[in-house]
Amino acid sequence: MNVRSIHVRLILWYTVLVIFTSVGFGAYTYQSLRQRLYDEMKETLTRRVEHVRDDVLTHITTYTPDALKREIQDVYSPEENDRFIRISNSDGSTLYVSGSPRDKNFDPSRIPLPKDYTAKVSERMEQLRSSEKLLLVGFITPLAGNNYVVEMGAPIDQIDSALRKLIITLLIGLPVIIIIAVAGGSLLIRRALHPVETIRATAEQITFSNLRQRLPVAATGDALEHLAKTLNQMLERLDLAYQQASRFSADASHELRTPLTIMRSELESIESTMHAGQLPLAIRERIGSVLEEAERLSGIVEGLFAIARLDAGEAKIGHEAFDLAALVRSTVEQMQLLAEEKRISILIDAPGPVFVAGDAARLKQVIVNLLDNAIKYTLAGGIITFSVFLEQAKAILRIKDNGIGIPSEELPHIFERFYRADKVRSRTTQGAGLGLSIVRAICQAHGGTAQVQSTEGTGTIVTIELPLADRNLQENFNAAA
Ligand code: ADP
Repeated sequence: MNVRSIHVRLILWYTVLVIFTSVGFGAYTYQSLRQRLYDEMKETLTRRVEHVRDDVLTHITTYTPDALKREIQDVYSPEENDRFIRISNSDGSTLYVSGSPRDKNFDPSRIPLPKDYTAKVSERMEQLRSSEKLLLVGFITPLAGNNYVVEMGAPIDQIDSALRKLIITLLIGLPVIIIIAVAGGSLLIRRALHPVETIRATAEQITFSNLRQRLPVAATGDALEHLAKTLNQMLERLDLAYQQASRFSADASHELRTPLTIMRSELESIESTMHAGQLPLAIRERIGSVLEEAERLSGIVEGLFAIARLDAGEAKIGHEAFDLAALVRSTVEQMQLLAEEKRISILIDAPGPVFVAGDAARLKQVIVNLLDNAIKYTLAGGIITFSVFLEQAKAILRIKDNGIGIPSEELPHIFERFYRADKVRSRTTQGAGLGLSIVRAICQAHGGTAQVQSTEGTGTIVTIELPLADRNLQENFNAAA
């Protein structure tokens, strides 16, 4: 999983969390406010009912209906306050009922009497004509042989409108909060993951050819800094081990060169004596074959030595600017004979000079190895085409043949050392499987790449990409020319 998908996953989780929290908070706020408003209204109504019961009901027998009405009007003014007050008897007769409120929201005479007289304190909601409701609190008080019922009511439209306003505020506010939280969260997550992405991108670039590169260490003082430092220490150890292994290969192949050269010159001198006819034919043939093998071994050791030195970074790469197209032309000319022997034609498509900075001798080796392969693996009468051109500020060298091609399952391995695709078919051809390894090592030492595309039976294309010489180098070259 890459850093981008971690970022997306974290953001998705975070968004879900923010939405759940915000919606939960909104629902909780709505519910608790609703409860509180209702409780407060019930409390107020209950207090008033108690008040009427204590102040008025206890003297009910002393009031005439008019006096009762006046008393309640004076003390509670129910019509002005949008309140409903009713004093009734449990037999269903009404002693007092308040008048219509100012806004005529309800008609007190149509509010039904309580159905149940068993509970001392009751609470109910009456649906009015409109969509509004009236909250009623009633008390039943036994007095002088009667069961008096005092009811106090208030429309809940104010509560409803306060709750409606809260819902509107939540509907507008919550999405804004969610958007801000998610955007801020995304920014923070991106910032937090940025060092991880930098470490990943750098680590991806590190191969055996640039093992000296280190991961960036952001001085954050956290686990990421620690991780980058630990990985760098690991790279340090890997680099050291790799250098030791490369140096060992370089030293070993270097040590092998001298005895091999001596062996070859000894064999060559014996061979020259052979011409004088001093040795029997069978021995001469054997010496010839041993010399051939010694030369082959010598070639392998030279190849190994070159790769090991490039790997160990010991090989000095020149940095003169030169025209890659001209190098291709001169190398092809020198190898023309080899191609002619197989009646293979070589075409060069290089419309203009392409300047690269590097080691001409080593890049010539690249051309030699690639052309050698193309000739080896192309049947008689085939065509090999070299193209040299510029593409996206890079120098491109492409060599295409219409030879036997490489089976797709072999392609990933052909740059490996000593790898020879399809051993059976390769047996007839010379080569130790080091040619392409040398090509890649030289290209990497120049900061370039080597890639192969091939279709079995159709042909192979090898593409070399090299950095261009910078302007100064090109100008120096032009001035010198
Ligand atoms: P070798 O010395 O065997 O040529 P290389 O490293 O140059 O070693 O190549 C590795 C293998 O890749 C070869 O054995 C061969 O099978 C395959 N190969 C390389 N170039 C070509 C080509 N132009 N056409 C077909 N096969 C190729």
